[in-house]
Amino acid sequence: MSTPRIDIHLSKIAHNAKTLSTLFRSKGIDIIAVTKGVCAHPHIANILVKSGVKILADSRIANIKKMRDAGVKASFLLIRTPMISQAESVVLDIDMSLNSELSVIKKLSEFAIIHGKIHKIIIMVELGDLREGIMPSQLENTIEKVLRLQGIKLTGIGTNLACFSGVKPTAEKMELLSSIAINIEKKFHIKLSMISGGNSANYNWFSTTKDVGRINNLRLGESIFLGYEPLTGKPIPKLYQDAFMLVAEVIELKNKSSVPDGEIGLDAFGNKPKFKDQGIIRRAILAMGVQDVMVTGLTPKLDIEILGAGGDHIIINAKKEDLKVGSDVSFTLKYGALVTAMNSSYIFKNIITPISAAAYCAIVEEKDRLHKKKTAIIPVKEDHTPLISLQDSDFNLIFEKSIQKNYRYLVRKEVYEKIGRISKLLDNQGKKLIIRSAWRSFEHQQKLWDQKADFLKKKYPKKTVEEISKIVSRFIAPQKKSTHSTGGAVDALIYDLRKKCVLDFGTNDGLHIDLNEKCYPKHPDISEEAKKNRKLLMKLFEDEDFVCDHKEYWHFDYGNIGWAVEKYKKYANYGILKESYVQSAALNYPDKVFFYL
Ligand SMILES: *Cc1c(COP(=O)(O)O)cnc(C)c1O
Repeated sequence: MSTPRIDIHLSKIAHNAKTLSTLFRSKGIDIIAVTKGVCAHPHIANILVKSGVKILADSRIANIKKMRDAGVKASFLLIRTPMISQAESVVLDIDMSLNSELSVIKKLSEFAIIHGKIHKIIIMVELGDLREGIMPSQLENTIEKVLRLQGIKLTGIGTNLACFSGVKPTAEKMELLSSIAINIEKKFHIKLSMISGGNSANYNWFSTTKDVGRINNLRLGESIFLGYEPLTGKPIPKLYQDAFMLVAEVIELKNKSSVPDGEIGLDAFGNKPKFKDQGIIRRAILAMGVQDVMVTGLTPKLDIEILGAGGDHIIINAKKEDLKVGSDVSFTLKYGALVTAMNSSYIFKNIITPISAAAYCAIVEEKDRLHKKKTAIIPVKEDHTPLISLQDSDFNLIFEKSIQKNYRYLVRKEVYEKIGRISKLLDNQGKKLIIRSAWRSFEHQQKLWDQKADFLKKKYPKKTVEEISKIVSRFIAPQKKSTHSTGGAVDALIYDLRKKCVLDFGTNDGLHIDLNEKCYPKHPDISEEAKKNRKLLMKLFEDEDFVCDHKEYWHFDYGNIGWAVEKYKKYANYGILKESYVQSAALNYPDKVFFYL
């Protein structure tokens, strides 16, 4: 894919917006999303609206027009005090603006009257950061005059801190804004519906305060897009910090000295450069420079060091990373880097859209169809690995009750060892592996099928036998098709010892699983918690070389045909083991743990 580019993960932005909305809502604060940091990209604006944000704010009229023209369905707030020369456009194109000059508000009123509009305003109060805002002592005087203007609706007051001077929005500052609001309401007998306390930098105040007073609104950009709290630069819990990733390509990679050779004058930007002597290093040049992005705001994902940058080049010490000419190098971005990258016409904006449930399910079903075709033709070279009962192990496991009497939870020896290692990893996390099912005889498999079919017949008496078997076969393999008959398949879930419950996987209530499309492992419409828990379960098994079933997040295969197909093996190692075979083996070796074949 083309470079330099910025990968924009819409689903991560949506997650951050929803998480922050819910958090602030818990104390009665609504959020406005500020789009100036992403140049009001319409796809991003749309995902913010889809995530529940009602008002979008930008510092530029052009950006707001761009969103309007793209059909973004939101109210729009202009957050930079309007230019008096643009007052007419503000009234015509924008619903609401932040204001700090009476002369501008008067002009807005004039045009509102001419065009028969009501323009909403928030009056900004200066609380110490020394950017926009009316001095508190002048506020009542101004408001008295504003209230007499026609075409203008005073919607509220606000303040902006932590920008020009980095002044913290402390509890005192917020209490002051609250008390100013209360005094104005009393004095003028009006109701201010919006008290806008600030921006992303208000996060720490919000987290530590019990009483937010009259503050009922915040305007957030950075924390939604980058998941950081700007005053300390610390990540905000539960948010993504990599919704945006900048990618550049290596155009030269050579071993060169870490210090230049020759007399040193000024560099391309008029600075005198300094160099640290690290001997000979692996120097790489990336095709991206300060013309494209504020390079000081980039953090590499790899263990490399940015040595410096010119207009069109970034020079890095590639250290021990596996890079070559043509490799992509990725960076996360700080706010300055995000703004400049989004503004650069040289950087391709690569929007990564969350896949819809319908599209995802269609892909899974197509994969499953292909998988079944391949499993029908893949050969088995039975390697006679013995079966062994997980119940006889000393691993920390929970066994889900089986419909099969005297069920022994048999697996192949290698699988047994893998389960042992997985259970140990979970022990360290205060969790326990639940084994739902392992080797199953044909008879056992038939029982499961019949049980499900009976259940569905009762639930949907109008459905025909064919329709019922079609539904059942989407989730339960017919007698002779299940990989459970090989001893290489395991069904597993995870129990949380601290919370004393089965983890939430999105379609389960404890051990009971509802069989539906949301059981497809990476279904997009399950909760973040369920996604995280599925990831944990799948990683444990995949790290042990199992493959997860296409349709069931709890089913894992190793060594059998299901596994061989997914791993592009020439043949499977574990074939079907019939009931009679396993029983005679058990009879022949009654006191052995292993059922030798
Ligand atoms: C930029 C801006 C914001 C948003 O600030 P973030 O730090 O990105 O949350 C809010 N209000 C005003 C007035 C702004 O200029």
